Amino acid sequence: MSDMIQVTPRVYQLGGIVNVYLLKTSEDELTILDAGLPGSGRRILNAAQELGYGPQAVRHLLITHADTDHVGSLAGLVKATGATVYAGPISKPYIEAAKTPPHLSMIARMTTGALSRLAIRPTQVDQVVDEGDTLPLAEGIEVLRTPGHTEGSLSFYWRAEGVMFVADLLTTRSGRLEPMPAMVTWDAHAVAASTHKVLSMQPEIIAVGHGPAVATKTIKEYISQLQTSVPLTARPVY
Ligand SMILES: [Zn+2]
Repeated sequence: MSDMIQVTPRVYQLGGIVNVYLLKTSEDELTILDAGLPGSGRRILNAAQELGYGPQAVRHLLITHADTDHVGSLAGLVKATGATVYAGPISKPYIEAAKTPPHLSMIARMTTGALSRLAIRPTQVDQVVDEGDTLPLAEGIEVLRTPGHTEGSLSFYWRAEGVMFVADLLTTRSGRLEPMPAMVTWDAHAVAASTHKVLSMQPEIIAVGHGPAVATKTIKEYISQLQTSVPLTARPVY
């Protein structure tokens, strides 16, 4: 077994520096959420195979945002599977030009900029998805605009499974949710507003881009902590 963790009956987390999620959205169709670092396509397809889905059964690739570590193996996955790529309207031009969206400090830009220029191939976004959409996968996967880490960041909510996929809106450390570091944040006020937005939907589990997924009890703690620590003067983003 690879280093894959079952988060819920139909959601699996393939961990590492960045998480890739495998969603059993039907018996014969697998959905993959985010595409990992460059060079991880084989590892992702092996994980799919472990769940009983060959490359042809990978039908949907949901992308939360255009960062190198989330679209690194997207081109290779599309080539191997022919799956449909879904992303938000603001991320789309970055994915299609293999460019990192503007949100990184100088130091972070120097490292990831070089990496993405070397390793990322432009990939066509087949379907633009946005706030208010419900993707017709399984019982429906809802799309939310959750700017903050990048301007174009989306979250995906598989309500029937209780999982909110927030990618890098938040991270987890020692079992607790926290915002991503300021040096990789586009707008901290937007992070706060988007965090309130996703938590107000009361998901059972928050699935993040970096770190373990976190369940209800910790979310409730985080909400009370946020209410005292995060200024609610953030401009509305929804
Ligand atoms: Zn990111």
